Amino acid sequence: MNQKDPYLLTPGPLTTSATVKQAMLHDWGSWDDNFNGMTADVCRRLLAVAGGSDTHVCVPMQGSGTFAVEATLGTLIAPESLTLVLMNGAYGQRIGKILDTLGRAYIAIDKGDYHPPRGDEVAEVLAANPAIAQVVVVHCETSSGILNPIEEIAEACRQAGKRLIIDSMSAFGALPVNVAELPCAALVSSANKCFEGVPGFGFAIVDRALLAASAGQCHSLSLDLYEQWAYMEKTGQWRYTPPTHVVAAFLQAMKEHEAEGGVDGRLARYTRNRDRLVAGMRELGFRTLLVDEWLSPIITTFLSPQSPAFDFRRFYDAIKAHGFVIYPGKLTVADSFRVGCIGQLHDEQIDAVISAIAGACQELGLPLPVPAPADAPDDLKNA
Ligand SMILES: *Cc1c(COP(=O)(O)O)cnc(C)c1O
Repeated sequence: MNQKDPYLLTPGPLTTSATVKQAMLHDWGSWDDNFNGMTADVCRRLLAVAGGSDTHVCVPMQGSGTFAVEATLGTLIAPESLTLVLMNGAYGQRIGKILDTLGRAYIAIDKGDYHPPRGDEVAEVLAANPAIAQVVVVHCETSSGILNPIEEIAEACRQAGKRLIIDSMSAFGALPVNVAELPCAALVSSANKCFEGVPGFGFAIVDRALLAASAGQCHSLSLDLYEQWAYMEKTGQWRYTPPTHVVAAFLQAMKEHEAEGGVDGRLARYTRNRDRLVAGMRELGFRTLLVDEWLSPIITTFLSPQSPAFDFRRFYDAIKAHGFVIYPGKLTVADSFRVGCIGQLHDEQIDAVISAIAGACQELGLPLPVPAPADAPDDLKNA
């Protein structure tokens, strides 16, 4: 194991445990019972975490998370139907882009970079557009780190009788969700986020009846979620070459997730990481983009210090030299950078990254505390 790997304070790929990496030191045949047993175990466990064991099915899909989102949208959304997409950042916009590519019509509520879409706004648009069949929302919008209020959005959908599809890529596994109770027609996530596996596949937790009614609807051969499910039901196998080592690592990661106390245990550690990080950064003079109410325990956006001495590339390199990788900002309006709280990170790493950031500020010639930007771009309390 290379001890010199920097810690990844990024939203995935992220720092995995040594035991997750060790789980990949074998080769499996794709038809082999041992491997197919691992796939079945993974799907069973994911359904249980999602609260969907009686109502939903779990379908894994090769590729990164976006492949699973595209497969889910392309399979479940009827070609002639209308969709409402809730956007407040890059991942919501990507959902719009996928629907554009698939030629599926949609209406968007676009809240810009850092405002949450609210339940009453969704209810209003649904009432004004009865043709809408489904609503798609991002759970944690990883581009700002905002935690969107999916419960009130689900309630608006339930009252209007619309299906809800959630991109919970960076939240599932750390934030409690119950797909049967919400209710939610489909929830999509991937191996390399809060379950702390390695990248290589995503998965959808889909209402069984809805998926069963979606045969022949997908635009794509390889991304057809219905066909992947039907084949897996029949043979226990993935339809095309599975990411065998990634599945083995993911099963190990799921066992470690359970040993940590499942969603509650993971949420507790990530929340602690976030609180420790935000407190330490605020002591150094940094400001968060969001007020505390909307901060997720996944990733936090900090506004760049207001000084000609601040250069993100040099800042990044200086922090990396201390053994930590942070993440650039992804906002259109504010100059910012992001620090993740997920992965194998504990108090020791959080304290060390704050020291590394303080050291980087000194190396760049920034005063401490750093000169904060005059004001956050907007008052989120009035959102
Ligand atoms: C990571 C992520 C995705 C998927 O990104 P990939 O690069 O395709 O894995 C989608 N949505 C959200 C909210 C994410 O955080």
